[in-house]
Amino acid sequence: MSRKLYNLRFPDGKRKALTLSYDDGVRQDIRLAELLNRYGVKCTFNLNSGTLGRVWIADGPDGREKLDLSCVKPEEVPAVYAGHEVAGHGLWHSSLTDIGTPGAMLEIIDDRAALEKLAGTTVQSFAYPFGLHSADVRAMLRYAGYRSARTVVSTHAFGLPEDFLQWDATCHHNDERLMELAKEFCAGGGGRFAAPVPQLFYLWGHAYEFDIHHNWNVIEDFLACVAPYKDTVWFATNGEIVNYVEAYRALRFSADSAAVTNPTAMKLWMSVGFDQVIELPAGETVQIPQE
Ligand SMILES: [Zn+2]
Repeated sequence: MSRKLYNLRFPDGKRKALTLSYDDGVRQDIRLAELLNRYGVKCTFNLNSGTLGRVWIADGPDGREKLDLSCVKPEEVPAVYAGHEVAGHGLWHSSLTDIGTPGAMLEIIDDRAALEKLAGTTVQSFAYPFGLHSADVRAMLRYAGYRSARTVVSTHAFGLPEDFLQWDATCHHNDERLMELAKEFCAGGGGRFAAPVPQLFYLWGHAYEFDIHHNWNVIEDFLACVAPYKDTVWFATNGEIVNYVEAYRALRFSADSAAVTNPTAMKLWMSVGFDQVIELPAGETVQIPQE
């Protein structure tokens, strides 16, 4: 027996992944999605099916400028979000911890059913309206078929969550450390003696905030910073990351940790020691090279 150092690697052996999460289904998502498509970056868009198509011109924060809080129309959903992930955010954006269990269940399940009809696919990701959640709300999401849900907590770190139903982001796009973190994430190697753990950058926000603050340049600068790293960073939706990590967590290791079975239908990657990356084909058992 000898020391064993195994770590998850993302598809194609990449050590890093980037995902975005934008809420409320506002019309500014159209411009954001076009930007993301230009840079090849993926996003999970968390929609309230009850408010899709809403027309709402609100007073801006300074009282002078108007702010367009209108939403994407239901029939626009497939085209606007093509290539990205459609996810749930509650039927009417209610506070799920405080409206009673029946109402919370209805918000969660009716939203999921409506979004699945619009998107033409299963919906598995969620973002908590107002960031509010509890043990009961998390259980309701799980029973309703959701696999992950984002909070509004910023970690300023690049770890994977133990529980995807309490998925804290790295930061919001208005975070003053955004570009510092982006550069550290893209260029950083983790240090010579640090375990080669996988790293995830998770950015969130609302696209209408770029209008409020007149700062579309923030997301453009961020995308221009990360896009050149596409060969070492996996650009993925929330759902793609969850599906991959859940598959990895389903690996069956032998008692001596020298062999591993991949019981899933997905090809997986794992690092061995500091430098070696091995492939774990779907349905196969692999003998792990030892250091
Ligand atoms: Zn929201």
